[in-house]
Amino acid sequence: SKAWTLHQHFQGFPKASDFHLREETLPQPRDGQVLLEAVFLSVDPYMRPYSQTMMKEGDVMIGSQVAKVIQSYNPSFPVGCHVVSDCGWRSHWVCDGAELTPVLPDWPQDIPLSLALGAIGMPGLTALYGLEEVCEIKKGETLLVNAAAGAVGSVVGQIAKIKGCRVVGCAGTDTKVSYLKQLGFDQVFNYKTVTSLEESLREAAPHGYDCYFENVGGKFSSVVMPQMREYGRIAVCGSISMYNDTTPQTGILSTPQTGKLSTPQTGILSTPQTGLLSTPQTGPYVHTYMIFKQLRMEGFLCARWKHKHQQSLRRLMAWMTEGKLRCNEHITSGFNNMPAAFMGMLQGDNIGKAVVKV
Ligand code: NDP
Repeated sequence: SKAWTLHQHFQGFPKASDFHLREETLPQPRDGQVLLEAVFLSVDPYMRPYSQTMMKEGDVMIGSQVAKVIQSYNPSFPVGCHVVSDCGWRSHWVCDGAELTPVLPDWPQDIPLSLALGAIGMPGLTALYGLEEVCEIKKGETLLVNAAAGAVGSVVGQIAKIKGCRVVGCAGTDTKVSYLKQLGFDQVFNYKTVTSLEESLREAAPHGYDCYFENVGGKFSSVVMPQMREYGRIAVCGSISMYNDTTPQTGILSTPQTGKLSTPQTGILSTPQTGLLSTPQTGPYVHTYMIFKQLRMEGFLCARWKHKHQQSLRRLMAWMTEGKLRCNEHITSGFNNMPAAFMGMLQGDNIGKAVVKV
């Protein structure tokens, strides 16, 4: 069996030498246990900030996989069945059933099992909960989502369309922009090539945004705040622009010309000693907009609604089989390429969910 470990904590953007591939000898499975073999492994943005605070050097990289049961002493998980396991970046693993989630029992033959790590898995659930539970999005509203061509963002936009909303998306390449237009997004632009993010956002929704599904954080977020509509809701899902950043960031909320504040203001958010971030970061004071626009901004983790996962996965699967939810996958081959796939996803190589096929 093979496992990828965190050889040394990342300094800024991860490098190949930060990972180490080690051989493991697994115990024989005992009564109640199964032996798993990885089929698809997920690479996700959260692994980067998680490694910073929750992992020691030498720990196996955290992560989920779709695995096949190849030896079983547990009648609930017979040989040949597929499960989702959180055993990390491992080719094989011995565990008991308590740690496993079976893939939906009536999984259609023509839907790839890898989607259990994407649109019919944690990222799809994140999109659904962020929109329904946090944004409480309603028909006719205008939504903004960034990292829009990714695993979460692409599902966010499509569910919002199903719900009769107007959807604006931002992504980092022109190919991603075309892809999102094909998915039915109303307005899409490449945030890397526009001359002014502020103006492009304003042109895309001149009356402002009712809901903002926040995947990127940092300065992007600062530019959106002044364009929120009254009673707007912000679902703070992720802040990928900050995960690898080693330079202190300042987020300027508004300038005297465009906003309500008379001078740009920044505040210190956290220090290495106390917070989740690797460097001290200065962020914008959001209070003025929160108050005068009566906004609601809420951070969330998908796991909060664990009790709803099964029924939510069925809803996502129904949309998919009805053709209302489409998704792309960015598949890297080979367990040995896990670090490359992870780094590629962080730098935006993926359209849709980034997964590794063993
Ligand atoms: P994606 O599939 O969207 O992949 C990451 C994407 O982020 C890249 O493709 C890239 O696309 C974009 N990106 C990278 N760097 C930057 C940057 N500096 N500025 C703007 N965009 C950048 O990943 P996921 O869909 O899995 O995750 C999206 C977000 O959701 C992440 O922030 C993640 O942490 C969060 N998340 C939160 C969960 C929760 O429970 N709260 C659960 C799952 C995910 P591009 O080419 O457009 O730049």
